[in-house]
Parts: sequence; structure tokens; C-alpha cells
Amino acid sequence: MPNGAEKRDIKSLLPEELSAELTAMGLPAFRAKQVFSWLARGVRSFDDMTNLPKSLRESLAERYEIPSLRMLRKQISALDGTVKFLWELPDGESVETVLMRYKHGNSVCISSQVGCRMGCAFCASTIGGKIRDLRASEMLDEVLRTGIEAEAEISNIVLMGIGEPLDNFDNVVRFLRLVNSPEGANIGMRHISLSTCGVVEGIDKLAELNLQLTLSVSLHAPDDETRLKIMPVDRAYNVQSLYDACRRYFEKTGRRISFEYAMIRDVNDTPRHAGLLVKRLRGTGAHVNLIRLNYVSERGLQPSPEERVREFEKTLSDGGVTVTVRRRLGSDIDAACGQLRRGSYRE
Ligand code: SAH
Repeated sequence: MPNGAEKRDIKSLLPEELSAELTAMGLPAFRAKQVFSWLARGVRSFDDMTNLPKSLRESLAERYEIPSLRMLRKQISALDGTVKFLWELPDGESVETVLMRYKHGNSVCISSQVGCRMGCAFCASTIGGKIRDLRASEMLDEVLRTGIEAEAEISNIVLMGIGEPLDNFDNVVRFLRLVNSPEGANIGMRHISLSTCGVVEGIDKLAELNLQLTLSVSLHAPDDETRLKIMPVDRAYNVQSLYDACRRYFEKTGRRISFEYAMIRDVNDTPRHAGLLVKRLRGTGAHVNLIRLNYVSERGLQPSPEERVREFEKTLSDGGVTVTVRRRLGSDIDAACGQLRRGSYRE
């Protein structure tokens, strides 16, 4: 490799790609397996790969880099033990990751972009727009470093942090394959949820892959009139086109879709909205996840009162739509849905 050329990101390579590249370097097949398994354990340097000969470690280091996140801050919720990390990326940008502890295991909520360009009116992550996509290796490192720094075994992953995963489609799919790899972190697709604000094109592309993950759709309104007020993405893909894409997704994958609905006082929480939602979703097998809006100071929107949430929930379940109200975790450290942001340590 000529001097000054950019080194390649070895941690974003899938096992078969790594194997092909190392075999092309004249190495026996077992070397790629060794390297992949070190990477999946979160090593930051080729020198830490102690079962490789020194000369091999050196030649790998000449060709490749191992992008790694550096912990800038770790906050632990006094309310529920939720942990929020702020990481520095190799280029100096930063993102947040959240670890949630449940009885059934630990779940890590990862970011997929630095910032977000979707512009939802209630969300902190989109303030300042999108800076760049995360690489697969960076998303993988969010999972690995969270496990290491929190000394926690990770059993579930949710792509519900900063960014729109379907706006970074190829890197996200690559990350899913990496983290799902039996030779790596080995997290089953059924233990992974991906949330989208409703990028129809991406939903169709994902359906084609037929992964067995859970798709969550951030609906937040049953009609365009309401949705346009809070989600600019509705201009590109209206509610009807989103419902149609969800139906196609279900037909293709057999996986039920979960709809997220953040309840915003006097915006989307009236009996009329609940009625419209019932009409749309009854009989589709869809699941609705209600969540009281988390307060974001710049946004000026208010959470619905508790009793509004209960009434809304009742209308849905009476109407035959399965519904749950999501617990709010980590709100004392701004780790709850919609509260993650990039680079807040600089403020
Ligand atoms: N871009 C993807 C992934 C983000 S997931 C998406 O939109 O789905 C984060 C979830 O939290 C989304 O459902 C988002 O709509 C929701 N959210 C954003 N701001 C929120 C807030 N202030 N209160 C509650 N939920 C919020």
C-alpha cells in the first residue's frame, strides 16, 4: 500500500469479505477467522491480536485501520439504571448510545447517523441536521463498547437512537449482518428492532431482504393533516403510501409491524385521532406502542396528560388494536426517546 493512501476499515468487512482479502494476501483461511473474532471482541489495535505473528500484525496495520469509539461521557440514571454514553468517533464527531436493563436482558439503543435530516418537530436528534452517516464498524462499536464499558451482556439491539436508519441503508444492513454473524456478536435478527420515520423506499428495500428483525414505524398521526404538522417526511411519503408499504412488508416477511405513537398534547391525542387510528389498523395485526412525548426544551411541544393517554389506549384496545404504553427510561439523563443529540458535551 502506497504511503499516505487511506487505510481500509477492516471492521466493516463481513466475514466472507475479510476471508477473501486475507486469502488474497496469501494467508491460510483460519487467520481471517481469528481476526474477525478479535474484532468482534472490540480490540482497538492489531497488536492486541496476540495469537497472530508479529509480522502479520504489522502488515495488517499497514493496510487496515480498526475504527474505534472513545468514551467521552457515561451517565447512569438514578431512576432505573439506564446508562447513556457519549462517544467520540474517529473524525472527532460524536453520537450517543443508551443501555436499558430489562428483566429479559439488556438492550442497547444505537445511533445510525451523526445528526438527522428528517426534521421531526418533536425530536432533539434532528436539531442541526445531518452531519454524516455512521459506518457499519462504528455502529458495531456502539454495541461492543457499550457491553465492555457497562460490563453488560447485550441480548437486544434497537436502532432507535440518533438518525434515520433507512437513510443510511447500506451501512445499516452491513451492520446488521456483522452483528448477526455467528462468528461475531451473534445477536439474532429477532432480537433486533429497526425504527423508521416512514421512508417508504427503504421499507420496500428492507422487505426484499426478508430479515427477521422487527420493523417499527414512527407513525405519530393517523392522517396527513396532522402528520404534516410534525413530520416533514410525510410530504415525500404520505400516510396512505406508508400504510401500503407496511402491508407489503408484512406480506413479504410475515413480520408484524409495530407503530410508535408519541402523544403530543392537543396535536395528535384527541378521540378523533384515536378513532382514525382504529379504522386504519383494525384487523391488520399491527401493534401500537404509545409513548408520552418526552420533553425537548427547544421544541415547545407538550406531552399529553396521563388520562389522555389512558383514554387513547382504551379506544384502541376497545377497537381491536393491540396497544401498549411504553415505559419511559432514563429521562433524568435525557436518554429517553427523542432526547439524544450529537455533541452535547461541547455545550
Ligand atoms: N429515525 C427513526 C429512528 C429514531 S427512533 C425513527 O424516526 O423512527 C426514536 C423514536 O423516538 C421515534 O419513534 C421517534 O419518533 C421518537 N421520538 C422522537 N422524539 C420524541 C420525543 N420527544 N418523545 C417521544 N418520542 C420521540
